[in-house]
This record gives sequence, C-alpha cells and structure tokens, in this order.
Amino acid sequence: MKVITVFYAVILISVFNINTDIFPNSDSESSDSISSETDTVKYCIVSGEKISGEGVKLDYLGTEVLFCCTGCEKSFKKNPAKYMKSGLVDPVCGMTEIDKDINSVYNNTKYYFCSSSCKSKFEKNQEEVLNKYGSK
Ligand SMILES: [Zn+2]
Ligand SMILES: [Zn+2]
Repeated sequence: MKVITVFYAVILISVFNINTDIFPNSDSESSDSISSETDTVKYCIVSGEKISGEGVKLDYLGTEVLFCCTGCEKSFKKNPAKYMKSGLVDPVCGMTEIDKDINSVYNNTKYYFCSSSCKSKFEKNQEEVLNKYGSK
C-alpha cells in the first residue's frame, strides 16, 4: 500500500512539473527562472505594455519613469502630464501644485510650473535648475 501511495505522489509531482513547462508565461510562479532583479512586473507608463528586461529608464525631476521603448519615452517627454498622474513638480520651487498651462520645453522634455515667474526663472538657466534633480 505504501509503495502505491508513493507512486501516486510521484505522478502528481511530475504532472505538476509538466504543467509549469506548458505554461511558461506564468512566470510569477516559476522559481527557477533566470534570476534578474525585476521580480515585480512593471508596465510602460505610456503604452501600458509589460516591460521585459530593463526597459527604458528616465529620471524625470527625481521620479524614475519606465518605458518599454524609446518611442514611448519620446511621447512621455512631449506631454508628461498626460501620463503622470502624480509626481509632477515645479523644478524651480519644488511645488507639486503646478499649472499645466504654464510649461516650458527643454531638451525635448516638457516641464511645468506653478507660476509664470518660476517659468521665467527656469528659462533663464535650465541647466542649473535641472541639475538639482540630476545626480542621485
Ligand atoms: Zn513603448
Ligand atoms: Zn514654482
């Protein structure tokens, strides 16, 4: 009797193994996948696509944004407010209450400000303002 029980257990285990082989997409369960640091699944903020591997990283005013490709990165830079629901910040004064109509484009990237005075400060010296958010 014992032998039979063990035999069934072996069958069950092998069936389970076959199942995980058939569905390689259920990657959340497979523990033997080649380990990468991306344990949590990330999605492109623009396309909504699952990001495989590293993705395209952008540091937008201290917030790390991830894209599936450089095309999505470009779309984001043109209109960050469309894709970022939170984390938008006035790079001059640091306020998060920005006016999307007061904006300035620098290096193909759009930035938003709380007031036109912050905007003009920015436009006088974009590099210096953005450097505050640069190296982290
Ligand atoms: Zn993309
Ligand atoms: Zn401001």
